[in-house]
Amino acid sequence: MNINKLENWYADHHRKLPFRETKDPYHIWVSEVMLQQTQVETVIPYFERFIKRLPSIHDLAAIEEEKLFSLIQGLGYYRRFKNLHKAAKIVVTQHKGIFPSSFKEVRKLPGIGDYTAGAIMSIAYNKPYNATDGNVIRVLSRLMNINDDMRIDKNKKQITAINQSFIEKANPNIYTQAIMELGALICRPIHPKCKLCPLNSECLAYKNNLQNTLPNLSKKPEKKLIQYKVFIIRDNNYLYLRKRKEKLLGGMYEFPQFEEDLLPFDYHVIKVLGHKKHIFTHLIWEMKALEVKLISEPLDEWIKISIDDLKLYPMATAHKKIANLL
Ligand code: SF4
Repeated sequence: MNINKLENWYADHHRKLPFRETKDPYHIWVSEVMLQQTQVETVIPYFERFIKRLPSIHDLAAIEEEKLFSLIQGLGYYRRFKNLHKAAKIVVTQHKGIFPSSFKEVRKLPGIGDYTAGAIMSIAYNKPYNATDGNVIRVLSRLMNINDDMRIDKNKKQITAINQSFIEKANPNIYTQAIMELGALICRPIHPKCKLCPLNSECLAYKNNLQNTLPNLSKKPEKKLIQYKVFIIRDNNYLYLRKRKEKLLGGMYEFPQFEEDLLPFDYHVIKVLGHKKHIFTHLIWEMKALEVKLISEPLDEWIKISIDDLKLYPMATAHKKIANLL
């Protein structure tokens, strides 16, 4: 790869993103966690609010989990923020609040895998550690006309090794950002802008008109569908919520919801409020929201809250859709 061409293109064309104008490892770490599974445009306001509210790792370590969740509710995949919180506490207690600067120590922190560690090491510390994500896999598969299935670990490892060989010859800080930016702006999943690409003269996919068929990604397994009844149980100006203990969305609040018909409480339906659907990575929730009157005792795990306070309880997007029906 002509790394100079890529780096020069980046210098002239990159977007001015708030998390790309810094070398602060804390900022880069937070942004990389937010960018997992989430679009850049969505992340920007969350990132700016987060850094304003929690300007240092000490602030992040000290915040209550519930307040942290309020700050990032709507971003989804909440486990990543539990890990972020846990890792901040480790940095404060074991590293005197200074973000570690060795790959080994960074990689040990909860929620930090090879990709995030590579991004922090290269962008913040300018060290030659690759950060190989879906964007990079797409660019390199096309550039080198690699047709192996990129859902298979062995093939991903091979392309990671190629990316590593490039970053070792590059300016790591610029290279990591440049290849990510090329994947986001030019070498896009569909309709890549090959005519504007700084690497088009050497790209084998472009040469062979294969840019729309690469990377080779085998079909993902079907998502599992779960149908829930969601209960809006009003008691004058109050209603019931529960705090999730499950791995998925753990720590977020939701209206009581059940999959099965045999329920541990009695009720009668006042009205059907509507149907909502939420799609996760591996699951689809189809939710039927019922306003009901309770005719038995509430469950111990439910908490009774004033309807006016509903927005104070961090809630995942799936149940925010239900709250919007009220
Ligand atoms: S020429 Fe096209 S396919 Fe090749 S790297 Fe550039 S944008 Fe991607």
